[in-house]
Amino acid sequence: MSVLGHLNPAPIWMYFEEICNIPRLSKNEEKIRQYLLGFAEQNNLESKEDEVGNILIVKPSAPGMENRKTIVLQSHMDMVGEKNADHPHNWMSDPVVPVIKDGWVTATGTTLGADDGIGIAAQMAILKDKDLRAGKIECLFTVDEESGMTGAINLKSDFFTGKTLINLDSEDEGIIFIGCAGGMDTVGTMKYKPMPVNDGLCALDIAVTGLHGGHSGDEIHKGYGNSVKIMNRLLRNASNQFEISVANFDGGNLRNAIPREAFSTIVASKIDREQIEKWIDGFYLTIVDEFGDLEKDLKISVKKASLPPFVMDKENQIKLLDALNCCPHGVIAWSKEMDDLVETSTNLASAKFSDNHTIKIITTQRSSVESAKHDVAAMVESCLKLAGAEVIHSEGYPGWKPNLTSEILNLTRKSYLKLFHKEPLVRAIHAGLECGLVFEKNKGIDMISFGPTIRGAHTPEEMIEIKTAVMFWDLLVDVVTSMPEKL
Ligand SMILES: [Zn+2]
Repeated sequence: MSVLGHLNPAPIWMYFEEICNIPRLSKNEEKIRQYLLGFAEQNNLESKEDEVGNILIVKPSAPGMENRKTIVLQSHMDMVGEKNADHPHNWMSDPVVPVIKDGWVTATGTTLGADDGIGIAAQMAILKDKDLRAGKIECLFTVDEESGMTGAINLKSDFFTGKTLINLDSEDEGIIFIGCAGGMDTVGTMKYKPMPVNDGLCALDIAVTGLHGGHSGDEIHKGYGNSVKIMNRLLRNASNQFEISVANFDGGNLRNAIPREAFSTIVASKIDREQIEKWIDGFYLTIVDEFGDLEKDLKISVKKASLPPFVMDKENQIKLLDALNCCPHGVIAWSKEMDDLVETSTNLASAKFSDNHTIKIITTQRSSVESAKHDVAAMVESCLKLAGAEVIHSEGYPGWKPNLTSEILNLTRKSYLKLFHKEPLVRAIHAGLECGLVFEKNKGIDMISFGPTIRGAHTPEEMIEIKTAVMFWDLLVDVVTSMPEKL
């Protein structure tokens, strides 16, 4: 029984419901690949597959439209599989069950996969539409966007021929995206000497908790507290007043999250214990005062702990605390072309005691300007190297620099205004999209990204707003049928 069959636009929802039945977690796209190739065959459409499993299906131009510019439509085949703990679901075989709720489509207990199933469905509806008065359309379906973008990374520049591309993987109706940030990791590893702990000392556990955290791209400009920075400041300032030794430092978690918590164990003289606790209370008030309402739940706690087997040597302790103190975190530069867009940022993501008496410091850099990304990574490298750390950079992925004079942008803006009688917003995002990788290999490609409104992507609360799917479809059809003639 069809749940979505009565919704508009009918072809999109019909294909979307079919796609819900096809398991397609990242790196397990075999079934959706077969489905798409079968669809092409049934409809006598030319199709091909590359070595990593990306698919291209081509719709020839309508009669008389051969002189129009070719347009490439792009989505990704895979989805994120998240489910509620109490919901049984086998991601290799069970269908996603869509339901309609208050104007939105959502799934029962799992991610819906509208990211990017709605893009796939729109491409299929376009490919199927016999009456579409458009030039040649190339539909590109990539694999593995959600767990490493390996489809886009391995995409060959000659897999498609069009020089204009619409990516269908963004989640805010009314916004046309024209740029994204590239990213890379910079990781430092420091060694220290373990020093024995004398019996006459005492140990304290310190915890910085309750910070907001958030996405290291989308939310880096909001000024939230960084638990690694706050803990480090506490330890560094305390060590200027008291004789303390650091026995453990454990701050942050995911590389793409602003760190929310940090824990440390220090060793100090028993006589100083009370003074240190008092001093930490004062430090807490200073930090609370700095952040005010932005970090209402921030807590700094200190409690007596059992003596650890060793502490780090003084020389390296000073180096570590200085390195974390000068290591940049946050926005480095704002876009010179677009208002309110972060151009370059860095996230001090974590610092942790690790095996074999080492400390690992993980940082991530993002920028829509490739050279600026490498420059801030080098800045972080210098900080860590001065402290004697060994530093490595990940290869990373490239950004997509906004082009405000883009032809497809102007055409889409005009379509939007004509259809909905209002101007769309034009934005770039300070996070990664496959477009950066496509752009890197096809220099000069004219590209935008738009989609319907999706909320809660990558969570079991994922939902798509039905009325925005109608707008998405109307805009897409208008744009592909308005492509200008070839020069
Ligand atoms: Zn996506």
